[in-house]
Order: sequence, then C-alpha cells, then structure tokens
Amino acid sequence: MKHHDVIIIGAGAAGLMCAASAGYRGRDVLVLDNAKQAGRKILISGGGRCNFTNQKVEANHFVCSNSHFVKSALARYRSSDFIELVERHGIEYHERDHGQLFCNDSAKEIVTMLKTECEWAGAKIQLKTEIGDIAKLESGQFKLATDKETYTCDSLVIATGGLSMPKLGASPFGYHLAEQFGLKVLPTCAGLVPFTWHADQKLKFEPLSGIAVPSTITAKDGTQFSEALLFTHRGLSGPAILQISNFWKPGESISINLLPGIDARAAIELVLANHPKQSLRNTLSHWLPKRLVEALFDEALLNKALNQLVHSELEQLAVDLESWKIVMNGTEGYRTAEVTLGGVDTDELSSKTMQAKSVPGLFFIGEVMDVSGWLGGFNFQWAWSSGVAAGQAV
Ligand code: FAD
Repeated sequence: MKHHDVIIIGAGAAGLMCAASAGYRGRDVLVLDNAKQAGRKILISGGGRCNFTNQKVEANHFVCSNSHFVKSALARYRSSDFIELVERHGIEYHERDHGQLFCNDSAKEIVTMLKTECEWAGAKIQLKTEIGDIAKLESGQFKLATDKETYTCDSLVIATGGLSMPKLGASPFGYHLAEQFGLKVLPTCAGLVPFTWHADQKLKFEPLSGIAVPSTITAKDGTQFSEALLFTHRGLSGPAILQISNFWKPGESISINLLPGIDARAAIELVLANHPKQSLRNTLSHWLPKRLVEALFDEALLNKALNQLVHSELEQLAVDLESWKIVMNGTEGYRTAEVTLGGVDTDELSSKTMQAKSVPGLFFIGEVMDVSGWLGGFNFQWAWSSGVAAGQAV
C-alpha cells in the first residue's frame, strides 16, 4: 500500500492544474487516469488550437444552479493569471472574436506546459490505471484500489470531467463517487451541442447543409447570442446554436433573427420605393443565400414583385425573417457535445476550496460539477480556476 498526501483522479485540464498547484506547495501528489494520454480533450479543443481562456471572464458566462458559486475561484485565479503562465512558457497565442484566446500553433503546447508544470512541482502522473473501490478510512484517509496498486491519501480530488465525448474516455465515474459519499448530483444533459432536425424539417432543410449566415438567436428564457448559424445534414449548428443549446430544453422553440442589425420591413420598403417591380426572391437574395430564401418561403410569394405584396404579407415577412420560430427535434447528445450541463451539486461544495462540505478531504473540480461555461474559453478557465482553488487547499 502506497501513501500520497494528495491523489487526483483525472489527468485532464482541471486535474493537471490542481496537481501543479498542490505540488508547488510541497504536497506529495499523484495523478491517476485510465487513459493512455493526459489532456486528451485539450488536444482536440478549439479545432486543435485550444481556446484556452477568454480576455473577459465573468460569473454570468457560466451556467450553474447557484450563479454565485464560481465567483470566488474565478477571482482568485483569473484569466490574466493563466495568460501569464502561457507567456512564461513561450506559447504564442492570438485573440479572436469576443476575447477568445487560441494558441497560434497547437493545443499540444498547453498539454506540454501543464505536464512541465507538474514535473517542476514534483507531481507524478500515472496513466493507464483503472480505479476500483474507494473508501474513507476511520483515520480520515481515503483508500483506493486500482489495477496496479492500492493507495491511501489524505486528500482525494475528483477531476474526471463530464459525459461529453465518450470516445475520449468520458465516464460517469465522478457522479457515482459523489453519490457513494451521499452528495447530490443534478441531472445531466449535453451542452454546447448541435441541434437535430425532425424528419419533415430534414427533408426541407438538409439540402442547405454547409450554408452559414450571421444570426441572433433567442432561447425561450430570453438568453440571446449573436453569432454564425450553420445548416448541417443533421440539423443546425455553428457558434450561435452551440451557445443557445446551454439554455434550451426539449420541446422549446428558439427564435432566429436571420437579418441581425437590419430592420427587415424598412429594408424591403426601401427597395420597394426604388425598384417596385423587383421580385421578392431577388430582393431577399441580396441579404441571404438564395437556397435558404427558397427553403423558407413559398415559390408563389417569392415570384411576386415587391409592389404586389399586400400589407399583411410584408408584416409576416418581417416576422419570419427577424424571429423565425423553430422547434428542433433534439440535440446530437454527448457524442458531439463540448460540455455536460448538470453534475455534482455546487451546494455540496465549498466555493473557496471545492471541498465537499460533508466529506472532509474530498474535492471535486472542473466539469464534473454543475458548472458549464459558454463557448469561448470559459470551460477551460473554470478547469484552471477550480483546479487552483483545490490545489491551494489540499
Ligand atoms: P477533462 O478534461 O474531460 O478530463 C477528465 C479526465 O478524467 C480525462 O483525462 C479522463 O481520461 C479521466 N477519466 C474519466 N473517467 C475516468 C475514470 N473512470 N478513471 C480514471 N480517469 C478517468 N473548452 C474551452 O474552454 N475551450 C475550447 O476550445 C474547448 N474545446 C472543446 C472541444 C471539444 C471537442 C470538447 C469535447 C470540449 C471542448 N471544451 C473546450 C471543453 C473542455 O474540454 C472541458 O470543459 C474541460 O476539458 C474540462 O476539464 P476537466 O479536467 O474537468 O475534464
């Protein structure tokens, strides 16, 4: 039986960050993971360039049943702290829309940086290790059976992530462990995920696959995102859809403004004044791809000249263009989701240390808990901030 001060289960973003942070405090740290590689999600993130944080990170960029929970950890380890770390390791990066920061070269650099930090801090990473039974001993220590060795530790940190992308080894391990220790786990579902068509919608819209347009999308609860909307074979995707999926519930409609920044009614009337005989089809095709226009509106209506449109048709056109209400069939699920909504209830955890209030020595960090960020680097920032919060406390 081997003893370590701290054992962290999960060598992903949060686990590695926590390991380095605790190691620098002189703690004897072992990170265990059943995968062959550390940080696999980091490697594929941001299209291989890892959107590692955002210039502006605030509590309202996160979905959590307790909206205040994230504040303390985010304030104590800020995006500027992670940027400073990235710069210290000589990683070049660039900023994209909405303050998103990406590596210039490759996400591999972030994994290498985290592994280097662990090495410098003296934290060991042991991969390909299957975790078996875990128990809390009378001494207060934890005992972990694995396929390699049995371990004891004073602090046990669960950093096993959520359920998204099972292909990459996602597992419900953390939820089961929380339940084993009597902690509440909130229902989970896929987040930052594309929507799928109903069968009749698929017939109509599948040919539009590949078309991308600017949009403003509003969820039933009023949450709104202005970003690109992408038609796919399976349904709707693109940043606007991924963002809104965090705020959508099955059966709810979403409202899509296909002409953000344009007053549709006024714009059509302006064209009508100058070119009364222009067809509606040609008019709308100035603003939107023709194939999309033809899928959205009746052939007979599109063939009309603008001066043939009656008042009610103009009214309806503006509504359809500015608030196209659509009820999607569902989402692509965990298979393609970037995050998992729900998870270990934050009411069970200290917002300063991530320690379970009722189980001294047991910590949960990263995506396993009920904290999910918007698209834009916020999920990694949560992994870094919650990892450091626990790393400072274990
Ligand atoms: P993970 O990084 O998922 O790590 C969990 C670790 O636990 C893994 O190493 C896994 O092997 C291990 N594990 C799981 N079960 C077990 C078990 N039973 N036994 C032992 N080990 C186990 N977020 C951003 O901010 N920016 C992005 O650009 C971005 N891009 C993304 C792209 C994709 C395709 C996906 C899927 C996600 C993306 N995310 C992005 C989200 C981000 O990757 C996660 O929020 C983040 O990785 C969560 O960190 P974590 O450490 O909690 O979990």
